Amino acid sequence: MSPPNRLNEATLAQRETPLAALKIKGLGAKSREKLAKAGIATLGDLLRFLPRDYFDYSRIVAIPQAPLEQQVHVRGRIISREMSITAVKRIPVLEILLDDGHGTLRVMWFNQTHIHDRIIKNQTLSVFGKIRYERNGRTMNSPTFEVVAGEDADTGGQIEPVYREIGGLRSQQINGWIKQAPAHLDTAEILPAKVVEHFQFPSFATAVTRLHNPCDSNQLDAIRGHRDPAWQRLVFEEFFLFHCRRLAAKPPQAGRRHPRFQPLAGQLQAFQAALPFQLTGDQRAVVEQAAAWLRAGKKLTCLIQGDVGCGKTVVGFAAAYLFKEAAWQTALLCPTVVLAEQHYQKARALLEPLGVTTAILTGKNSRAEIRDVLERLADGRVDLVIGTHRLLVDDVVFARLGLVLIDEQQRFGVAQRSALLQKGLDPHYLAFSATPIPRSLALTLFGEGDVLQIRQRPAFQKPVRTALKRSANRDEVVTFARKRLALGESIFWVFPLIEGEEDSAERSAHTTFHRFREHEFADVAVGLVHGRLDKDHVEAEMQAFKDGRTRVLLATTVIEVGVDVPHATVMVIEGAQYFGLSQLHQLRGRVGRGEDQSFCFLMVEGTPDKDTLQRLRFLEQHHDGFDIAEFDLEQRGAGEFFGTRQSGLSDFQFGDPWRDRALMQAARQAALAYVTPDGG
Ligand code: ADP
Ligand code: MG
Repeated sequence: MSPPNRLNEATLAQRETPLAALKIKGLGAKSREKLAKAGIATLGDLLRFLPRDYFDYSRIVAIPQAPLEQQVHVRGRIISREMSITAVKRIPVLEILLDDGHGTLRVMWFNQTHIHDRIIKNQTLSVFGKIRYERNGRTMNSPTFEVVAGEDADTGGQIEPVYREIGGLRSQQINGWIKQAPAHLDTAEILPAKVVEHFQFPSFATAVTRLHNPCDSNQLDAIRGHRDPAWQRLVFEEFFLFHCRRLAAKPPQAGRRHPRFQPLAGQLQAFQAALPFQLTGDQRAVVEQAAAWLRAGKKLTCLIQGDVGCGKTVVGFAAAYLFKEAAWQTALLCPTVVLAEQHYQKARALLEPLGVTTAILTGKNSRAEIRDVLERLADGRVDLVIGTHRLLVDDVVFARLGLVLIDEQQRFGVAQRSALLQKGLDPHYLAFSATPIPRSLALTLFGEGDVLQIRQRPAFQKPVRTALKRSANRDEVVTFARKRLALGESIFWVFPLIEGEEDSAERSAHTTFHRFREHEFADVAVGLVHGRLDKDHVEAEMQAFKDGRTRVLLATTVIEVGVDVPHATVMVIEGAQYFGLSQLHQLRGRVGRGEDQSFCFLMVEGTPDKDTLQRLRFLEQHHDGFDIAEFDLEQRGAGEFFGTRQSGLSDFQFGDPWRDRALMQAARQAALAYVTPDGG
């Protein structure tokens, strides 16, 4: 057998040489310590520490012509200089007026007293930042600046990198060290030769050199626009390594000994006949696809994506039924007890008449109950077990685990998933996700499996009627909510903050909770959940709301994705402009799950700009999560889209899996061709 291609690990490792082991002029122990504190300890770290911005001395704009909301470089004389302190938060402010002979510009720095003595009246100053239109006119806030030595100092055509602030180290100093670094690199190429040739990538050393010190404005524009080959090389390399490592991490036995059996068409009919409703076309298509793969002897490794409420659970149940008919057990893993219980109720009602024995296993069960379930799992009497993390514990042993289902898969890490998979020999695997994203992105996220989508919604569900409302008109929304309460329906009220002060009080769940209980909703039971409460408390509150014991639930975004509260018909979202569109859509999906018409109010504070309004209005018109995700990704990129959520996708330093999707695809292809699976 020919040896598989290997990553050039030696070259990669050489990049991680500690800075202390290199001779870099002017970089002493003290500075190294400062760099290390900022996470820059090796040659590679230093080279990957790209400028956060650039001064383009060749392109100074005249103040009256400077565009708003874009990085611009303005140079002028300081004609006034004033210091003050803000009224409420007592923050020191330095305010100057720059005059460039064409016009004047207000420039302000907040809370940066350490720069004050460098900014002196009548001096010439270069500032680099974004101009915004504020209450007092055009203003540049906290720009990077450079004192220009002589009035007619001419730095002609030069582009200077500006680095993130590190313990008082100056940008020029940092750049001086970086300029020496490429000489220490091992020059062996780590990307496949074909790729380098195809994309005409510069070498790593050339690429980083150019990114730190672009030679002209055109190159700078290309870098800023993510088009420059130097930039693209770094992105590609990052994606390529990601895919290579992931492919290498695949368990060697995967896809070999999985259960093989032939589901019969009649079985699906029996399942459909037992349902109280008709499966939608998309639901049926997904189940039939899974059955077809089983018939073909293929192992299921599949992500099923669909909006909240599109009916993913029943697809999992159908699969569990097929497996039970072939005498295989199924485990369904849920992120919370509330969800596990909800699924268990439904599974019992639906599957027990079909002869599927179901059980629940969570930390909330008594010891005796747990012992009983464990026994029946081990000897094969339970066909479908639904549970939380409790399922992952060592004492859970299956007689014949054939299928693993994971609900809300984004809530689980790789380790948890494989802990459950290891309880069978090589079980089939279906994961469910309520974050609809374009297929190409989902494939990356999910790795080497398949991705199926459910777009259609059950016919009884009406689209949630959505409207923007000014916060100033909150009274109207309260009146509306009270009417719905009188009809026996329940209300979600979501806030971007847990606590707020002064100007942000309205955005805070906690402050509003007290007001609502005493005023607006004094006569109804009001609940509150937020991220600072412990998990059990949140779950208990969710359960109370689900049971109708509380009727208005104030919440931050912790409210459970999967929880089904059919009598909740109104979703009010305060400070809607502070959320991403997909997040708003997810929140909205918590209502509209019953037959009644549901409503969503997007509360908008103050006077938001045109873009924000346009973004929010998209939600008034659109109800398909895939459409919304695409629009959202287009505007914000995947990094922002996934935010802090553990997707693994926002961890890239250079690339954005959505913006750079063409490179992402190419890197995946290249990695697949490169890391040849042995014996394949
Ligand atoms: P999700 O995709 O968010 O997990 P669920 O599986 O919880 O959605 O389903 C939402 C609700 O819709 C449940 O009450 C479920 O019983 C119901 N449902 C699912 N499929 C259909 C269908 N084809 N027709 C009618 N109701 C359905
Ligand atoms: Mg669900």
